[in-house]
Amino acid sequence: MDLDGLIRDRIRDVVDYPKPGVVFKDITPLLADHVAFAGVVDAIVNHHGRGTVDKIVGIEARGFILAAPIAYHFGAGFVPVRKKGKLPSATYERSYDLEYGTETIEVHADAFTPGERVLIVDDVLATGGTARAAADLVARGGAEVVGLSVLMELSFLGGRDRIGNLDVHSLVTV
Ligand code: IMP
Repeated sequence: MDLDGLIRDRIRDVVDYPKPGVVFKDITPLLADHVAFAGVVDAIVNHHGRGTVDKIVGIEARGFILAAPIAYHFGAGFVPVRKKGKLPSATYERSYDLEYGTETIEVHADAFTPGERVLIVDDVLATGGTARAAADLVARGGAEVVGLSVLMELSFLGGRDRIGNLDVHSLVTV
């Protein structure tokens, strides 16, 4: 099976989670398969090329799981973007709209050195609100966003259109 087929096979649809009407893409079967997990990490590193970025941003929580080994293989640092209230030191924050209500994410204000090149990593690109907010936080920190890499893009939700000029790399699109 090629990587595309492996990813599709190892991501499980969970109907009506976290609420009725939503089909949640569950990546835990993929993470539990070392060939699929390593293949995903290698594909994202190879797409950009080792040494091309200084920092990898992982978005809480599943983004952390992918971003950490990607940072290791890139030879780049890892920076967490977290839900509001979880980071211990001074932060920048950004709020964005969800279907119902708003979400706020944060990054440490000293996470980046001005001019650093940053790749954002997450598991799923859905409506794009989270990725857009993360990119804004990186820019606020004075760094340059080179792109967003995700395992899976839910294209029917139009995230790519919402995130403006961010360069999106998705391993699988549904
Ligand atoms: P967005 O802001 O609507 O693009 O949602 C993306 C964020 O929500 C990411 O951080 C994902 O981890 C999470 N997310 C949204 N839908 C799913 C899903 O079906 N499976 C896993 N994570 C999801």
